[in-house]
Amino acid sequence: MYSDLKDQVAVITGSSRGIGRAIAERLAQEQMKVIINYHSNQQEAQEVVEQIEQHGGQAVAVQGDVSQEDDVQNLLHTALQTFGKLDIWINNAGVEKYIPTEKMTLAEWQKVIDINLNGLFLGSMTAIRYFLQHNQIGNVINVSSVHERIPWPGFTNYAVSKSGGKMFTQTIALEYAKRKIRVNSIAPGAINTPINAEKLADAANQKETIALIPMERIGKPEEVAAAAAWLASKESSYVTGATIFVDGGMTLYPAFAEGKG
Ligand code: NAD
Repeated sequence: MYSDLKDQVAVITGSSRGIGRAIAERLAQEQMKVIINYHSNQQEAQEVVEQIEQHGGQAVAVQGDVSQEDDVQNLLHTALQTFGKLDIWINNAGVEKYIPTEKMTLAEWQKVIDINLNGLFLGSMTAIRYFLQHNQIGNVINVSSVHERIPWPGFTNYAVSKSGGKMFTQTIALEYAKRKIRVNSIAPGAINTPINAEKLADAANQKETIALIPMERIGKPEEVAAAAAWLASKESSYVTGATIFVDGGMTLYPAFAEGKG
């Protein structure tokens, strides 16, 4: 537990399920007040709010598409209207879809870039502008992926969005360090969430994925949320522009594990 997080306010995009939900629930356990952003499934978001409230926490569900500037502004607006301030902004919403590059249309390319990269820009910019206007210490956390580093055929737009997100994170971390705004990324490996549920439900696919993970297991959303809580807290006060890999060692070139090469 991080006592400094009590009564702080966080916006978490795409938090009605998966990693975003786990982050929201963890921050609520830390007694933070949280904005649960959802794109289309209101019931899912409402369930997260109820779960948090049942444990004595405070949360509000807000619809919004992270690729739309007005919707992103509305997330901040709701945080201010409901809880009176903003302390931490977490860009978590993201999408991926397997499409070989030669078959990908411009619209399919654009959709992933719009959500994963432009959404990152809109969310970060909205939060940073608020922190600057209020001369406030700020904290932005971006949920990236091991694919900010590992190329991923069939997911070109996704890998580009995440590697672009890495440079975006580092650049704004540098741009605003003097203004006491920290910006960091968390890069999950294979985590058990709806984004890959179908793939991991297939035993052969799951085996193939586990073969890429030195720790030989799929990660849990709560394990990513633990990194988010640390980055949100003062315990990470000297960390900015960093990527924390939460990947069971996936980025350690597992093919070399037995001294090959
Ligand atoms: P998920 O599909 O369970 O959750 C993604 C969330 O983003 C959903 O709630 C969805 O509604 C929301 N979302 C999608 N488009 C949106 C939009 N336009 N506006 C607002 N919200 C939108 O997936 P997840 O695994 O929880 O993914 C969360 C983040 O973690 C993503 O950025 C993803 O790229 C990243 N990630 C996941 C894994 C993994 O293995 N699960 C690995 C690496 C990175």
